Amino acid sequence: MAEFRLFGRSAAPGVAKGVLAVLDVARRPQLRLAGAPADEAAALHGALARALAEVEALAESASGEAAEMLGFQVAMLSDEELVRPALEGIEAGQSAPAAWEAAMDVEIAGYRDADDDHFSARTADLEDIRDRVLGHLEPLAAGLDVPDGAVVVAADLPISRFLAIDWARGGAILLARGSPTSHVAMLARARGVPMIVGLDGAAELVAGREALVDAATGEVVLDPTDATRAAFAARADTEMRASREQAAFRMGPAVTRDGTRIALYLNASSVDELEGLDPAICDGVGLVRTEILFDGPGGLPNEEDQYQAYRRIVAWADGRPVTIRTLDAGGDKPIAGVTEDGESNPFLGLRGVRLSLRRPDLFLTQLRALARAAAHGDVRIMLPMVTVPAELEAGRKLMETALANLAKDGLAARRPRLGIMIEVPAAAIAIDQFDADFFSIGSNDLTQYVTAAGRDIGSVADLADPLNPAVLRLIASVARHGWETGREVCLCGDAGGDPRAIGPLLRAGLRSLSVAPASVGPAKQAIAAIDLRDPAP
Ligand code: PEP
Ligand code: MG
Repeated sequence: MAEFRLFGRSAAPGVAKGVLAVLDVARRPQLRLAGAPADEAAALHGALARALAEVEALAESASGEAAEMLGFQVAMLSDEELVRPALEGIEAGQSAPAAWEAAMDVEIAGYRDADDDHFSARTADLEDIRDRVLGHLEPLAAGLDVPDGAVVVAADLPISRFLAIDWARGGAILLARGSPTSHVAMLARARGVPMIVGLDGAAELVAGREALVDAATGEVVLDPTDATRAAFAARADTEMRASREQAAFRMGPAVTRDGTRIALYLNASSVDELEGLDPAICDGVGLVRTEILFDGPGGLPNEEDQYQAYRRIVAWADGRPVTIRTLDAGGDKPIAGVTEDGESNPFLGLRGVRLSLRRPDLFLTQLRALARAAAHGDVRIMLPMVTVPAELEAGRKLMETALANLAKDGLAARRPRLGIMIEVPAAAIAIDQFDADFFSIGSNDLTQYVTAAGRDIGSVADLADPLNPAVLRLIASVARHGWETGREVCLCGDAGGDPRAIGPLLRAGLRSLSVAPASVGPAKQAIAAIDLRDPAP
């Protein structure tokens, strides 16, 4: 067979070589004839009960986000409303599998077509539920054993199938649909499984073909020639050597060639992303994005849930500072029941602290949970999307209310230091107006607002460059203000973990960066290569 190349979008980096295993969650060819409606309904209830027991068992052994996602499946499987249309189909003369499949396909289409990432990301979960129940009604339709190290191909990959595969032996994921922001993509990144989504020419992905996968570039080569195989092996070898070298930097402090110590913090959305990591690789946690807590299947978290979640991160940090950002819903992070629907431009709308201040009920609950977590360690709080000083002052006032209420309730709490994200140009330009305890530059948003190039719009990605001189000048002036007033200025956007950007950021005056856990080695290696005594290149 001739060599064939396909391209998609990177969802989790890495290279892999393996044989394609096609996980066909699509159609069963023949569904049997219907029996009596009462028997069909009993068969459906039996299959639902078995599916529910399986998912509950999976949820029990999972933790954190995976458990939350499986919790969504448990909730759906327990929801009578989900089953009702299938029972109506049975009453109308359909067999249990035919009625269940048809009813679920309608439900799934509704989710898939939703103009909302939150709902469309649930599509894979619903497909998983459909197929699991069908598997109990039609045993032949049940899953597939993925051979060790296989390159798994699917239209989309349900979380439970991802968790059922042993990734310790290598492998990769190729999806015709999917998105880099999906739950399964998050898990793939956390587990180091290379993953590509939105592959074109997916019809070529037939089981048994040999595939070379470069998930960083989004390229797949099928039936490679010997020359391609050799070139790929060399690339994999270089990557492995580079990642071994970077790993050697992981444990040491971040220090430039001229001996300047750089504070390197971690970004995380939950303690799951930190568990298994040695806290000694970092100087603390520089950004906890709390949105994921509010976006779970169980709805908005109460004070106790939040307190426990923050406390676990503080415990992981083992005495190091932990900077937790208050809810930054809106823009690229819509949250059902919190963000406004139908804004003409959500990035310029009610997001971040603007939204929190409109929902003092939510905001106060989060501030109470944060103040309680602060009793257990060095917790710092920062407000996202601050534009004017009044927002900082309103946040501070609400924190005082939270502390007073906690004292009245007899709950242990401590006043955390209060900082702000610098990601709106107005705040960066008028930085001297903000009496915050510290500043943290959100280069993702700052860059999009300064360059007027959306962070989620691929066609203008080259304009959304954090190294644009206008962005760098703003960063330099915020860093200078920090030096002059003795307040720490960190940068927690993606640029902080980008080896290409680190030199210019340090030369702009920054001495604190906060990066994704996977970027610690590459960032420390890049820092070690910089000599701040040299003139800028
Ligand atoms: C940023 O904008 O750079 C940032 C760190 O926040 P987020 O990416 O969550 O908007
Ligand atoms: Mg931001």
